[in-house]
Amino acid sequence: MSRKIHTIQDVVDWNLCVGCGACVAMCTHNHGTTLEDIGSVGIRPKFTGDYCKHCSDCLSICPGYSIDASEVRDTELETAIENLLVGTYHALYEGHSADPYIRYTGSSGGVLTSLAAYCLEQEGMDFVLHTAMNPDEPWKNRTVISRSREELIARAGSRYCTSSPCEWLDRIENNDKPCVFIGKPCDVAALTKARRVRPELDRKVGLAMSFFCAGTPCSDAVMELANTLGADTQDISSVHFRGQGWPGKFRVNRGPESEPITNTYIDTWKKLSRRRPFRCHICPDGMGQLSDIVSGDAWNRYTGTGENPGLSHVIVRTAHGREILKKAEDAGYLNLLTIEPDDIIEAQGLVLRRTMAFGRIVGMKLTGAPTTEFKNFHLLQAWLKNNPSTMLISIFGTLKRMALRGLYRKGTSYYR
Ligand SMILES: Cc1cc2nc3c(=O)[nH]c(=O)nc-3n(C[C@H](O)[C@H](O)[C@H](O)COP(=O)(O)OP(=O)(O)OC[C@H]3O[C@@H](n4cnc5c(N)ncnc54)[C@H](O)[C@@H]3O)c2cc1C
Repeated sequence: MSRKIHTIQDVVDWNLCVGCGACVAMCTHNHGTTLEDIGSVGIRPKFTGDYCKHCSDCLSICPGYSIDASEVRDTELETAIENLLVGTYHALYEGHSADPYIRYTGSSGGVLTSLAAYCLEQEGMDFVLHTAMNPDEPWKNRTVISRSREELIARAGSRYCTSSPCEWLDRIENNDKPCVFIGKPCDVAALTKARRVRPELDRKVGLAMSFFCAGTPCSDAVMELANTLGADTQDISSVHFRGQGWPGKFRVNRGPESEPITNTYIDTWKKLSRRRPFRCHICPDGMGQLSDIVSGDAWNRYTGTGENPGLSHVIVRTAHGREILKKAEDAGYLNLLTIEPDDIIEAQGLVLRRTMAFGRIVGMKLTGAPTTEFKNFHLLQAWLKNNPSTMLISIFGTLKRMALRGLYRKGTSYYR
């Protein structure tokens, strides 16, 4: 049995798929590739024809196969600042939407929603491709297109669940005017790769935004949490993970007759985060190095109790992102203050994951399993920042986890 990646099916079978959906949107052979949300696993491609089983074309755009930080679409890379733990950037801010309602409704400061609204209202961009609740199964996500501020606000807020916004990249490619893309860092990595091979798509991406991401739990995890809190699956009318204050609560609605069920952000993440795909544990790109603009929680400014007014960290990765952000600020869409890289390092657990990635990948390789190739993330230097015991834990902890769960064998699913 081959222990190398030759096809997208291999990416799926070795637990390296992130479920972005780019292979579905960009397939030129049209041989019936679809996506399915496997409740205990995540969104995965399904190949109905024999053709895809032997085709390797999609690997060139697959973030489960490889991600290269140097592919960032920045026209002024020479003036960008390099930071080992935060990545390459042009500017760093803390801030929030200037619209109090968007700030209140958004996940942290509503920065992504406000910037998307700016692009629609002031930059003549046509639509925003992003992610929202699936109304038919509210514990799941679906890919959506928003064309107005009202639609954006209705779909604001983080959804800690598997998502596949790249499944509609062809809609951006085939549109007349530029559009906004919002997705996980791995979604933006897929978009970036696709832009390199599809010039028309490249021209139509008006802005690519992402958020800090520690990984996407599977949809069963969300449903089971709602059940544990007392909601029967058939009664659930909506599920929200964040918003209405910072950090906001997990909220399950069961129609107008019942009171919403809520749970704290901390307990919700504690329970859901156990059900993230294995691929998320080795990811060094939690702060979206390929995006124009990426936003996360300014946890270093959270008071530690109750709901605070929302505050985001904002990393500007490209000259284009810098220009759009400046214009949005000048037009009164955002309130921003400059910060230092240490503010982000202090705020983010994702920094630790970045320093562990090298050791975890070594641990994987020792089992003989193939891994995602992460290029130009300076993972060795980041790993050397750890003390020796943490370095050993990163290798041998992964080795142990892979051995106990049989992940060194192709086709073993890991989630718990
Ligand atoms: C799975 C996940 C993990 C995260 N991990 C971290 C973390 O470790 N540290 C941290 O600081 N922040 C993390 N965040 C990001 C954080 O919760 C906020 O999203 C971020 O601060 C941006 O806030 P905002 O108010 O600007 O976004 P908003 O204005 O609320 O906009 C959020 C946008 O994200 C899109 N979106 C929501 N969920 C998904 C999804 N599952 N897939 C694709 N797009 C989605 C929405 O469509 C919306 O356009 C995570 C978010 C998610 C979804």
